[in-house]
Amino acid sequence: MLFGRSKKNPISISDKGVVDWKYGTCGYCSVGCSIEIGLNAEGKPVTTRGVGGADVNRGKLCIKGLTEAQIFEASGRGTTPLIRDKIFEDWQETDWDPALDRVASEFKRIQKQYGRDALAVISTGQIMTEEFYTLGKLVRGVIGTNNYDGNTTLCMASAVSGYKRSFGSDGPPGCYGDFDHTECLLAFGSNLPEQHPIIYWRLKQALEKRTFPVIVIDPRVTMFAQMADIHLPITPGTDLVLLNSLAHVIIDECLHDKTYIDLHCNGFDELAELVKRYDPTTAAKICGIDEDTIRHVARVYAKAGAAMSIWTMGINQSTHGSDGVCAINNLNLITGNIGIPGGTSLSITGQCNAMGTREWSSCSGLPGYRVLENEHHRQEVGNFWGVDPEFFPEKRGLFQTDIFPAIETGQIKALWIVATNPMTSMPNSPRIRKTLEKLEFCVVQDAYRDVETTQFAHVFLPGAVWAEKKGCFTNTERRVNITLPVAPPYENSKPDHWIFSTLAQRWEQGQNMHFPEDTADIFEEMKQLSVIDDSSKGRMLDISGMSHELIEKNRGLQWPMALGDTSGSPRLYSNGVFQFADGKAKLLAMPYIENNECPDQEYPFWLNSGRVVEHFHTRTKTGKVGNCNKFSPTAYMEINPDAAAELGVEQMQYVRLVSRRGDAVVLAQLTHRVPYNMVFIPFHFHECVNRLTLGLLDPYSRQPAFKQCAARIESIDQAEAARMNTELRKF
Ligand code: SF4
Repeated sequence: MLFGRSKKNPISISDKGVVDWKYGTCGYCSVGCSIEIGLNAEGKPVTTRGVGGADVNRGKLCIKGLTEAQIFEASGRGTTPLIRDKIFEDWQETDWDPALDRVASEFKRIQKQYGRDALAVISTGQIMTEEFYTLGKLVRGVIGTNNYDGNTTLCMASAVSGYKRSFGSDGPPGCYGDFDHTECLLAFGSNLPEQHPIIYWRLKQALEKRTFPVIVIDPRVTMFAQMADIHLPITPGTDLVLLNSLAHVIIDECLHDKTYIDLHCNGFDELAELVKRYDPTTAAKICGIDEDTIRHVARVYAKAGAAMSIWTMGINQSTHGSDGVCAINNLNLITGNIGIPGGTSLSITGQCNAMGTREWSSCSGLPGYRVLENEHHRQEVGNFWGVDPEFFPEKRGLFQTDIFPAIETGQIKALWIVATNPMTSMPNSPRIRKTLEKLEFCVVQDAYRDVETTQFAHVFLPGAVWAEKKGCFTNTERRVNITLPVAPPYENSKPDHWIFSTLAQRWEQGQNMHFPEDTADIFEEMKQLSVIDDSSKGRMLDISGMSHELIEKNRGLQWPMALGDTSGSPRLYSNGVFQFADGKAKLLAMPYIENNECPDQEYPFWLNSGRVVEHFHTRTKTGKVGNCNKFSPTAYMEINPDAAAELGVEQMQYVRLVSRRGDAVVLAQLTHRVPYNMVFIPFHFHECVNRLTLGLLDPYSRQPAFKQCAARIESIDQAEAARMNTELRKF
């Protein structure tokens, strides 16, 4: 007898005709899920599945990974290089030699005429680590501009800066396995179920085996906040006040780990003195969390046998982003929660290879976490590459967010944009549009020719997508995982490392250096560089025990992994030795300074932004995937029903949202997820949130405060709004 669905309307999954599966790592987010791509009899990628034996995702994928096979032949792929004399003119198709000749000759002309740093390069978190390394070698060792940065400045720069200030080096110290050991989880500005669904699933798995308190700090009642034991709906931009107040309670009530602090930290007295000013009664008035809750959370956290903190953009994308990260690190350090199972301070990264660019691209310094400011590091890398160390600058150049103002002032004349889309991702897009129009020469290199930024390019170079090439990504927990090529590059597109190496040959210096063709050989070169010693001790970022084969066999390996090691390292700093000269971490005393654009009478709403699970960043890929678009087709604005009623705004009605930068037309969604004085918009849609954002910069990381600015709501004729919305989407 048949029961239920099987009797009525059984679900059937169409047979895609898969004859072979190839191993890879998902090319979207930093969770780093192991994925298998199914090929049909013609060798075309037709589907994907999670890899059961992989520790990260244990067979699971989210909607983006499950639909990733659709991106290979999605509309808008670049087919061949394109050139033109002026922006907005028609493109001419060309081949690689003329296109790269043009790029090299224009770069040389601009540098000769205006100086080496008049050319800027903005890279990505999307290409392979071996490609990042090759790009760094080209930019630092051959072209020689110092204005070179990654789009990770928009998402992870505050985490990097905070780790460096607290621990002496970048490098997230924990791992997903810490959920299985922790006794308390503090999550700051992280909507894990939508941003990093498979990490969330790992957390849920841990919670099914035993319970521990989950405390979510977020101004919105996010999906994550809804499942938390305690939700702290903090006033936007005031994390540092709350964190200082938590430290105040822990120290005031002698809940800190004095032994750990004495052995492994500097700066305790200064911190203790500073946080005296942040008693919960005073802090509550600023951060909006009542004083009893602050005390309760501090006690729960400090009394846990092992406690961990995670965070994402809610902390990083703030004018106090770097201080917020250091303040989280302070909490972990004063309670001895670093480098132990379940005790860590773990930034959850954004892009699939944001970590790879931090480690190996030379964006902010030199490869393998070396810095330009260190003469010995310049010497090591110069000798290894065959470049005069004097050729390297002695300090890092402009961040991405400072490169655009430098274009406005005429300091930068040419820009090479690799696999990123600033026309949609940068704050204040009306200003970015005018800025890009000022360039004498612009190159966009991307797998898709229809990214909005291509409108401002003189040359377009089509890159291969992730699984059309072989190479590694590093995920949030320092796990290096590999992708094998499942298909040749689309039409006349090329792997990014080929583009970098081939372009390098247009300089005499590039001809004298070695640019390996095979990514396995590039990886071997990186391994050698990871163990050249800069002092009496080994390097932290040691990958010398890895190889492409071992990585594939183990479904990813976590660095450090020294030569001869049989496995990687799940945690950093387990020995309590940090990366400062004396081996001690720094406790930092940081006062809160109010410097945001806050709501006022004219612009009474906080404008907040974030992700939805179906889309990734500027929708270059997910915007072309049927199910991702079906479930999340358009931008919308969450507004509290009480605020909506006062303004006469109804569910699914268009409104005009206005800030001091511009305006956007958006559909209202009435929900108690946002408080009365806040609206929230997903950031993925070009026609929307970044037309409004201000993006004040963090002083250390130069990361923009995407999540905090002021806006007002105006009514709009509904037919006119629908027309405007369509128009805005075109540009
Ligand atoms: Fe890919 Fe991230 Fe989804 Fe995993 S969680 S399948 S890495 S997008």
